[in-house]
Amino acid sequence: MSDGASVPSFFALEPAAAEAAVVARGGKAFHARIIRREAAERGVLDYARMTALPAALRASLAAELPLVSAREAARRESRDGTIKLLLAFPDGRTVETVYIPSRTAGKGATLCVSTQVGCPVRCPFCASGKDGLVRNLEAHEIVEQYLFGRALGALSRSVVMGIGEPLLNFENLARALEFVRAEIGLGARKTTVSTVGFPERLARIAETNPPFQLAISLHSPDDEQRWELVPAMKGVPVDDVLAAGDDWFAKTGREITYEYVLLGGTNDSEGHAQRLAERLVGRRATVNLIPYNPVHLAQYGRPSSERAENFRMVLEEAGIVATVRWSRGMEADAACGQLRMRPAR
Ligand code: SF4
Repeated sequence: MSDGASVPSFFALEPAAAEAAVVARGGKAFHARIIRREAAERGVLDYARMTALPAALRASLAAELPLVSAREAARRESRDGTIKLLLAFPDGRTVETVYIPSRTAGKGATLCVSTQVGCPVRCPFCASGKDGLVRNLEAHEIVEQYLFGRALGALSRSVVMGIGEPLLNFENLARALEFVRAEIGLGARKTTVSTVGFPERLARIAETNPPFQLAISLHSPDDEQRWELVPAMKGVPVDDVLAAGDDWFAKTGREITYEYVLLGGTNDSEGHAQRLAERLVGRRATVNLIPYNPVHLAQYGRPSSERAENFRMVLEEAGIVATVRWSRGMEADAACGQLRMRPAR
């Protein structure tokens, strides 16, 4: 999955190179496919438990070629079953990956993955953007988050909404999502990529009809305020972002979801709701309203449930489908916008 510049591991190798590595240790090419299947389909992350492989091959691989480059550095679990993993890569950099079990037993889990270490967008209300971008994740580092997630249990959906701006590391993300589609079975309808919505990039990507749903984080109907809340979008009018969303729907046939973090006293007034409704009316899109989770160091508050509901009603009265999403995983600090609030322990 990479050019091999990072520390070698089975999943960092292109499939042909992984097969060659297996054959060089006395195995057959199909053993590499077994390894991929055991990890991706069954969540086995230990050669020793891959009993379909010859014992000598398992031992040789275990000694010489780690299956994955990441290690689980820490884990926190909240009462609702949400698990936040802190994954550390060989260069010492870490990302968080969050496993959110369905409320319905047996329905699998949603996995929230990261695409960058740090984030260049620097939204002032988000812990992940506080220090800016450290580096992009390699494709295999994104894949490995899925493998660690699968090791926790079956996955029914994934959301690329963790740390980072996916469109600014899109080549690696696209390669990772192709693996996820082919090997884990999470295709176009089961994976959502959330972006702040760079119009030119969206236009180019829409041409390829990629295998995911799109969510655009809007956070304000007003240009000036959006530029404050989403600094990397400064100078890009909200109109251009919405036009890019329309273009996406026209090209892919898949509706956009607009994400809107409700910051108490900042962007959650009735006037904001009305202006957002005016912007969205007649467009093929739905809205997710996400009441802000408190983050240390940030000056924003959490809206009351009445205020959040009122905002939703204004949209609904304009014919726009909107849902208030109270984030889960609060106890593990794993809810949206606070992934880097405290290191996992
Ligand atoms: S909210 Fe998203 S885009 Fe904004 S800084 Fe945080 S991770 Fe980056």
